[in-house]
Amino acid sequence: MSKLRFRVVETAFKKKAVEVPTPAERPSEYFAKYVFNRDKMFKYLSSKVYNKLVDVIDNGSTLDRSIAGEVAEGMKKWAMEMGVTHYTHWFHPLTEGTAEKHDAFIEHDGKGGVLEEFSGKLLAQQEPDASSFPNGGIRNTFEARGYTAWDPSSPAFIVDDTLCIPTIFISYTGESLDYKAPLLKALRAVDKAAVEVCRYFDPKVKKVYSYLGWEQEYFLVDEGLYAARPDLLLTGRTLMGHDSAKNQQLEDHYFGAIPTRVASFMKDLEIEALKLGIPVKTRHNEVAPNQFELAPIFEECNLAVDHNMLIMSLMRKVSRRHGFRVLLHEKPFKGVNGSGKHNNWSLGTDTGILLMAPGKTQEDNLRFITFVVNTLMVVYKHNGLLKASISSATNAHRLGANEAPPAIISSFLGKQLSQVLDYLETSDKDELFTVAGKQGMKLDIPQIPELMIDNTDRNRTSPFAFTGNRFEFRAVGSEANCASAMIALNTAMAEQLAMFKQDVDALIEKGEPKVSAILEVIRKYIKISKPIHFDGNGYCDEWKEEAAKRGLDCETSVPVIFDNYLKPETISMFETVGVMSQKELEARNEVKWETYTKKIQIEARVLGDLAMNHIVPVATQYQTDLINNVYKMKDLYPNEKWEKLSAKNLELIEEIADRTVYIKEHVDAMVEARKVANKIEHEREKAIAYHDKIAPMLEEIRYHIDKLELIVDNQMWTLPKYRELLFIR
Ligand code: ADP
Ligand code: MG
Repeated sequence: MSKLRFRVVETAFKKKAVEVPTPAERPSEYFAKYVFNRDKMFKYLSSKVYNKLVDVIDNGSTLDRSIAGEVAEGMKKWAMEMGVTHYTHWFHPLTEGTAEKHDAFIEHDGKGGVLEEFSGKLLAQQEPDASSFPNGGIRNTFEARGYTAWDPSSPAFIVDDTLCIPTIFISYTGESLDYKAPLLKALRAVDKAAVEVCRYFDPKVKKVYSYLGWEQEYFLVDEGLYAARPDLLLTGRTLMGHDSAKNQQLEDHYFGAIPTRVASFMKDLEIEALKLGIPVKTRHNEVAPNQFELAPIFEECNLAVDHNMLIMSLMRKVSRRHGFRVLLHEKPFKGVNGSGKHNNWSLGTDTGILLMAPGKTQEDNLRFITFVVNTLMVVYKHNGLLKASISSATNAHRLGANEAPPAIISSFLGKQLSQVLDYLETSDKDELFTVAGKQGMKLDIPQIPELMIDNTDRNRTSPFAFTGNRFEFRAVGSEANCASAMIALNTAMAEQLAMFKQDVDALIEKGEPKVSAILEVIRKYIKISKPIHFDGNGYCDEWKEEAAKRGLDCETSVPVIFDNYLKPETISMFETVGVMSQKELEARNEVKWETYTKKIQIEARVLGDLAMNHIVPVATQYQTDLINNVYKMKDLYPNEKWEKLSAKNLELIEEIADRTVYIKEHVDAMVEARKVANKIEHEREKAIAYHDKIAPMLEEIRYHIDKLELIVDNQMWTLPKYRELLFIR
């Protein structure tokens, strides 16, 4: 036992960085080498088909099935020149990963041989035979088929020998079973609604894009140590482990020098990512030891989501080449920071304007304030839903702890923007603007002639912070599919902007000038959404009380937080905007509750096994050594001296006995609690039972295990400890 432990740790120490050769070309030359992007479309398609496809991508016009054949032919030709033999529809089922089933290009040629073929039909649509993706009861067995359908707005790409075609995944009866289908609908809806609002300011705007720039945090651990931790292997986090004497208290890791072996992994990952067209730009150490961050330049939301899914799978693959395992779990280690995935979100027009960025003219700034205030309305009205969109069994460990956004959604605006909003809210209408000029507008804010929003005014405790030209949704979990948050946010924004348009138009119809109408509605919205605006410290307890008084959602139980998806106003919003039906929302909630239960169930089983197979036996063995020692001492020393010398060991013997008894009893109790919970039929109630009854037991048992770790002989302890997992790189 002890030998194994030391072999594992020693090997980890000896690992050297794998040399990653620098490609001969520059990133600009190999960027998107493996992507069927416009360059390749232009080269491999006729100009007629190219133009049609670009029109589908840029303007969302309907895909003409007749072009699919030629597109497939072009893709195949390009892919085969790159050595590709297989293709797959690549989709995002309601798990946190992606799914793919590879088929070879080959077909019978009718002469006893085969030829390479890839038809438009195969490109456009497929029926995955796997009927075991999460579906919340939508697909009962007799209609177990689902369809995947090509999403031309995200380009096909090559991984190894396979051409991957991004697709949506829907049921036989048309309900979405993935993240992409509702995301595309939400993006379409926000585009339409935002264009209408933009036209108050610039009639030339034809399209509004939703942008997403994610920042991916992760941990790296040595793969040998990882393999010796069944909890990491099976649940993605350590279910036990005492704090390392040193962890992050010296704050010496954040932005520190990147260790060689890690730098080599990062370089390799970045080269692969760039070849796949992912514009990775930023890398640095994060707060916790062995924690890092990677961020690309922001992109159109659908593409950014695909790229994030792709980078997570690349990270898993590339880390292994370097003798690491990547941990994407939100909280792999207790007592040090967890990992998030900040979602930087904004809207921008086809005329090149970022709608959440202040501008030079007063008109620009009225537009800017319009979009910011509508966003605040969204966050205010749907704070519970936004929280639900980022909630999971794993992210629950991170939120609300003193390191990550609290489990209450609020919005930080910073000093300058707050001042502007206060001014708009309180100033008298006539004082605020005078009708002048062609546009009929002069936004007269004397203190702030040109809005220069200070980008450095940050508040790390805010879950939804304004950061100069965008909002940063910081509560998203590191392991999550960003689409979940982006569906909720963009759908709510689409609904909100349509409402804004209605309100403004109603005033204009009554004869109010446009600018005056816009300002009046903005003023009203600033007042309504006030409770969501909070620039203070989100970590402190007073904020919890204050937030409750303000009527914000303060629920912390994840299964109950999911109820937000089924509130009448939420259902009505998703249905009106045309993103999801009640049936789809209900099915997805079933999946969320079921997944929650399963995650806690697996953790409980793994903890039970480890407690009984690793911890109790080792502790007992050490206890036996102590007992032997006590007996032998007795032979050596006279009674009085023996009593004195053995007192400490007797204490240890007793402590080990107490703790192992506690562990054994509570592991049994946890099994019984699971049996009771498993009998509950309703997924929601079952998840609540797992949350209320079983999850706390994991912590109670762990407490005693971690105490044992401190007293049991280090040579005997089978599991790598935090100081090894966190500091060996
Ligand atoms: P930090 O928030 O840590 O200062 P950065 O300034 O590097 O990080 O930006 C984080 C992410 O935000 C990057 O992906 C960046 O491209 C993205 N981002 C910047 N501006 C916008 C915007 N207007 N809309 C969406 N994302 C943006
Ligand atoms: Mg950031």
